[in-house]
Amino acid sequence: MPELEQLHHFIGGEHVAPESGEYFESTNPATRQPLYRAARGNAADIDRAVAAAQSAFADPRWRDLSQTRRGHLLRRLGDLIGEHSEEFARMEVLDNGKLLREMRGQLATVPEYYYYYAGLADKIHGEVIPTSDRAVLNYTAREPLGVVGAITPWNSPLTLTTSKLAPALCAGNTVVVKPSEHTSRSALLLAELALAAGFPPGAVNVVTGFGSEAGQALVDHTGLAKISFTGSTATGARIASATASRFIGSTLELGGKSPNIVFDDANIANAAMGVVAGIFAAAGQTCIAGSRVFVHRAVYDELLERVVQRAESIRIGDPLDEETELGPLAFADQRDKVAGYVDLGRSEGARVITGGRPSDGGGLGGYFYEPTVLVDVNNDMRVVREEIFGPVAAVMPFDSEDDVVRLANDTEFGLAAGVWTTNLSRAHRMAARLDAGTVWVNTYRAMSPMSPREGFKASGAGVEHGTETIKEYTRLKSVWINTSEDAVADPFTMRS
Ligand code: NDP
Repeated sequence: MPELEQLHHFIGGEHVAPESGEYFESTNPATRQPLYRAARGNAADIDRAVAAAQSAFADPRWRDLSQTRRGHLLRRLGDLIGEHSEEFARMEVLDNGKLLREMRGQLATVPEYYYYYAGLADKIHGEVIPTSDRAVLNYTAREPLGVVGAITPWNSPLTLTTSKLAPALCAGNTVVVKPSEHTSRSALLLAELALAAGFPPGAVNVVTGFGSEAGQALVDHTGLAKISFTGSTATGARIASATASRFIGSTLELGGKSPNIVFDDANIANAAMGVVAGIFAAAGQTCIAGSRVFVHRAVYDELLERVVQRAESIRIGDPLDEETELGPLAFADQRDKVAGYVDLGRSEGARVITGGRPSDGGGLGGYFYEPTVLVDVNNDMRVVREEIFGPVAAVMPFDSEDDVVRLANDTEFGLAAGVWTTNLSRAHRMAARLDAGTVWVNTYRAMSPMSPREGFKASGAGVEHGTETIKEYTRLKSVWINTSEDAVADPFTMRS
């Protein structure tokens, strides 16, 4: 067996061996074959990376770079990612089992995030505020925060790292990334390309390793000015407490249990496709998965039949094959978790009308699970309340708009929601009444660097994408300059 490639951290513009000398193995979830060994980061590695990011932040080559030049660097980075898009796409497929066709699609848009923030870099500015004292000039300035810690999950590593890195750099910060232990590779290539694009050494650092070690050490590091996190609600809650106690900010993109709602006036063929896309695309391993499907009773049987038919024709297999529609789950525990939830659903009284079993993925032997539809479920069951993060839809009938709004909002999460209707008034009413940060009408999973998104309730805090997210990566300074040379008459009265 050939020696596995060893991946080091990327710190201060260099590949750096882990302080402990330890590495861990990453495997291909479609075949269970080992892929490479990544550096097992610890607190000493994190310390080194934060120090490198702090010196880059203070370095005049970065600190004094004009905002326009910052934009140039982001544009160049976008170009370089575009040039490496096939390499990135294949590396992510091997790491987490996502489909090559999906990753090629993602890679077509990843550079656009950098182009978007490249264009925004020299449009970050404060305002002049007219106070009531005309002799006073009051203005605001938006300043970078310092070192941002970015902690990302395994399901769309490059895209989710980009959602943090592009605006953080655009605003003039430096970054330490801790990718998921299951997907170390793309963040390392991204950091190398950032250096090649002209970002100074230390502007983008990557420490690989486990959440409980490298991740926790990053969260605990007092040199950080902010943490931007995408992952589970449980880890997000821990990060929220840690950052709050140090009075630093956090942007948290967390889990979901999103409703996908089909009305009786919907285009049923499109709605069925939307339901399939919502829960079976990416094997349901997306935070925005439309895992609770509510269908008006008048079209329930028809919709269900279409969804089941399409689910049963989904081609499961090698994610590198362009024909494949469902790849494996990302690792063994993830497959076991999904299987465990389906068994739990059965014991709660749910009926599995299709799927409900692991699959061998056409003989590949990886962590595959069949697309699964559960019926006879209700909002009291754990399979309807908890995030499964796999290809498992819970389908429920409803009778009225009020009824479905109540059911859809009866969840701790508030990330996204889908609505299928041809009634324009209903579309707007539902958009207003649903308690979710993103509402899609007659579409699902649409996303753009231009469109801000926020998770409500236990789905997060803070905004990603669009111009809004720049506020998350800057601090606001208010400057007062008294232009009057008059004598100060009364030191005991406040000026305004
Ligand atoms: P986790 O919260 O377990 O992990 C996310 C990241 O946090 C990983 O890098 C992980 O490292 C790290 N981590 C784990 N424990 C700690 C810790 N104590 N301190 C610091 N970092 C830690 O989530 P999953 O990896 O299981 O990701 C799936 C979850 O992410 C789902 O619940 C999903 O809903 C959510 N998600 C949300 C998205 C959104 O935009 N709202 C998008 C994608 C996913 P390691 O992997 O090495 O343990």
